[in-house]
Amino acid sequence: MSTSKSNKIIITIDGWSSCGKSTLARQLARKLGYVYIDSGAMYRAITLYFLRNHIDWTNKKLVEKALNDIELEFIFNEKLDQSEMFLNGENVEYVIRDMVVAEKVSEIAAIKEVRDFAVAQQRKMGKARGIVMDGRDIGTVVFPKAELKIFMTADNAIRVERRFKELFEKNPNITLEEVQNNLEMRDYIDSNREVSPLRKAKDALVLDNSNITPEEQLKKAMNWVKEIESGKSKVESRK
Ligand code: C5P
Repeated sequence: MSTSKSNKIIITIDGWSSCGKSTLARQLARKLGYVYIDSGAMYRAITLYFLRNHIDWTNKKLVEKALNDIELEFIFNEKLDQSEMFLNGENVEYVIRDMVVAEKVSEIAAIKEVRDFAVAQQRKMGKARGIVMDGRDIGTVVFPKAELKIFMTADNAIRVERRFKELFEKNPNITLEEVQNNLEMRDYIDSNREVSPLRKAKDALVLDNSNITPEEQLKKAMNWVKEIESGKSKVESRK
């Protein structure tokens, strides 16, 4: 695969819930001056809309009608140095991280019409290249020709603990068990659904970050980027 037309590449990061995908995606985007796109935020925002508007998502017609009324946009917040998710003009970046959304998001993300809607927008965002996008089907379905595909994984207990710490800051009533159940349920639905299940792309490089620091994971991923830039791409040699 050549990078001659544009030096900018597309980097995809897929993997299980809470294994550090967004941390790595942010790190890479900052280092490379790329745009980071959190595809999970889009599914979360759609879920929020469905919940707020009591949409019966088992009814295909109602789902299609609701999607017509949804406008998703990422707007960069300079103060926070990161993009935030806007749903029909409202900043929902904070509220979409709520457990109420987490409990339903995988069920809604498994609906074909919802995925078609989100994937079409994700592909548009990749047109300019120079992006790092994380999710579950980015290397397999959204950008199957991406130059660098990373599949992230981490020990279950470590993932639960990380997510628990994150959520506990917002909601001190949350329990470790609740977090564990939610992660297990999402991983199960995400990897067993009919449409675009979570899979490691054949040409993805695996990064297990159970026992490495954020600095070490960035170094590892940057080495892969450099290999691609220098033409010694592992992606190419794996084909
Ligand atoms: O990445 P995050 O955990 O925020 O994603 C929330 C949910 O959205 C996931 O559990 C999954 O069900 C869904 N998702 C998806 N495909 C993506 C990104 C997220 O199905 N590309």
